[in-house]
Amino acid sequence: MRIDIISVVPELLESPLSHSIVGRAINKGLVEIHVHNLREFGKGPRLQVDDYSYGGDAGMVLMVEPVYNMIMKLKAERDYDEVIYMSPDGAVFSQGMANELSLKENIIILCGHYKGIDHRIREHLITREISVGDYVLSGGEIPAAIVADAIVRLLPGAITDETSALSDSFQDGLLSAPVYTRPAEFNGWKVPEVLLSGNPRLIREWQDEQSIERTRRLRPDLLGE
Ligand code: SAH
Repeated sequence: MRIDIISVVPELLESPLSHSIVGRAINKGLVEIHVHNLREFGKGPRLQVDDYSYGGDAGMVLMVEPVYNMIMKLKAERDYDEVIYMSPDGAVFSQGMANELSLKENIIILCGHYKGIDHRIREHLITREISVGDYVLSGGEIPAAIVADAIVRLLPGAITDETSALSDSFQDGLLSAPVYTRPAEFNGWKVPEVLLSGNPRLIREWQDEQSIERTRRLRPDLLGE
């Protein structure tokens, strides 16, 4: 898989994409992530990428031409399954979307900044708009890192124990059961007895009960309640 991210602040993406599970997936060759500085296609001597908005609203808007040129350059090199724009008014990101996107071959993620991007980009170049939640951030870089991380950890081989991604929250529409590690007792706080029983059937039953109980209590919306 290949993910191309277009940004005006590429530095923001360096650390989140070079460590831990995502960093290892890149090193193992499971995914290529390329971060492109939109200024490469900036206009004039100052490599301008944004301008005042028509109508006089406060805030700068990313211009259509540099984004168009960058996307066209990438599209000339390979086919893309999706050109995604990170946007607070997009569809709210979910595990289901991450699962679906993890099956794609090549995707572009465009990060907006300032007041947003010229709407013609959204009308003509973008195939999908994704939000990370109902709040406004300064730029699309952290949202893009969220989407890339959620996708990459699903790629076969990214997580050593593959069942681990499947037992995470939301994969089966439920929150996951609590997890514990050694010691079995700390400060008088005990790990639930059943987890020490060594009986896989009882442990599984307990985990299922916990999942349902926690989902009902914390996220009844997931159960349609
Ligand atoms: N004026 C816009 C917000 C611009 S915020 C509006 O009111 O909708 C600047 C950039 O940050 C956006 O272009 C987008 O790429 C990114 N961004 C901000 N909040 C986001 C969110 N919740 N999800 C995804 N991207 C977001």
